[in-house]
Amino acid sequence: MERKRYYIWTVGCQMNVVDSQRLAAGLERLGYERSEHAEEAEIIVLNSCVVRQQPEDKVIGRLHQLRPLKEAHPDRVLALMGCMVGQREAEKLRRRFPWVDLFLPPSDPADLWEFLAQRDDLDEAEALIADAEARHRALTPLDALIPSWQRDHLATAYLPIVLGCSHACTYCIIPYRRGVERSRPLATIVAEAERLVEAGAREITLLGQIVDRYGYDLPAFEGYAGTPLVAVLERLHEIEGLERLRFLTSHPNWMRDDLLDAVAALPKVCEHIEVPIQAGDDEVLARMRRGYTVDDYRRLVGRIRERIPQASIATDIIVGFPGETEEQFRHTYDLLAELRLDKAHIARYSPRPKTVATRTMEDDVPPEEKERRRRLLDQLQARILREKNAACLGQAVEVLVEGKQMRTGRWFGRTRRNRLVYFHSERTGDLTGQLVEVHITWTGPWSLVGEEPVGEEGA
Ligand code: SAH
Repeated sequence: MERKRYYIWTVGCQMNVVDSQRLAAGLERLGYERSEHAEEAEIIVLNSCVVRQQPEDKVIGRLHQLRPLKEAHPDRVLALMGCMVGQREAEKLRRRFPWVDLFLPPSDPADLWEFLAQRDDLDEAEALIADAEARHRALTPLDALIPSWQRDHLATAYLPIVLGCSHACTYCIIPYRRGVERSRPLATIVAEAERLVEAGAREITLLGQIVDRYGYDLPAFEGYAGTPLVAVLERLHEIEGLERLRFLTSHPNWMRDDLLDAVAALPKVCEHIEVPIQAGDDEVLARMRRGYTVDDYRRLVGRIRERIPQASIATDIIVGFPGETEEQFRHTYDLLAELRLDKAHIARYSPRPKTVATRTMEDDVPPEEKERRRRLLDQLQARILREKNAACLGQAVEVLVEGKQMRTGRWFGRTRRNRLVYFHSERTGDLTGQLVEVHITWTGPWSLVGEEPVGEEGA
């Protein structure tokens, strides 16, 4: 019998990636098989991102592109999921995209299960709904965490621990679309982590918009003196077979010393911190309502480096925020030059509907100027990383293998400090999911290249 197929298309952050993964695993439980082409799928889901105009435009383009297909095959299901739908955009979207059947909020495919349960009278779909409800909505049954096509070569996995966000950064649409901050119960997180490791994951990255705020909304942590995230790290650390733990994204104000100490003390927790600064100027930071100053951030970097000497620190920056002057931009530039961080995700400011910045500030930095500022920071960061990575030349690094590059036959993976490494190995067989010592023979700003020393066969 021909199996029914699903097609999922994803843009956006790690949270969307994991939402799509769990959706895929749920559909497989209902007997659907993955397809890489929308044309041959009975269920099509677009998982959307609206954090900037660019991904939103891409989603809209894809929706229009799929319209003829849906109109030619009305029996197929077309669903839009994610931040474009948010908590309450569905009605508006229904009018704008009448050919779309279902609008699913981020991390919450319950309406799709409901739809399939009614249409096809599927007991399994009922079971998916019941399981999800039982473990509070937006959750996935344990056997629906990883789709089968990933289970065979799993190395790393994402695990959401905080959903939504209640911080009101003036530029950001996420709180409007992902709802208020909700921490997931520790027992759920542990059960999911154990299941992911059973499925082959050697590394787990814990996710949250402000991941270091985990647990402050949970009764279980009421009166708890330390940082609840530390309790999560300590508990997951015990899982046998798990080799590495990471967490992202952190907010500077919640990175307390006990968390940094835990990163330093727990061997499985990678010395890798993602903590966005967004701007290197106090006035801009105040208008972004980030809640800290440049000096606070500088001190934080000092604290991280003092406690975790090998720490790799990643940051996010927005250039061209409303009113950002050349001088204010220079402050950001100089700060990045001073701090020499290990990664900077640089974005041009994009006004987002309903945000405070859109309602009260003029988007007055011209597009070419935003692009110039972005490029300057990019070039600076490339220079810094070229120099920092050059220090790895001739050294041995531990790489968790994530897969093989078909074109070159090289394996690739990441170091504990999150450096991307490509390498040759004499070994035959699948190295995915293995920890391999790689000798670095070439370094660039964005990756390292090396080889596995011969004679390690069977080691
Ligand atoms: N919650 C995380 C990540 C949010 S989204 C945090 O607060 O750090 C990822 C990044 O997108 C942000 O860190 C920010 O740098 C960028 N971003 C968010 N809104 C944006 C906007 N309106 N324009 C441009 N970049 C934006």
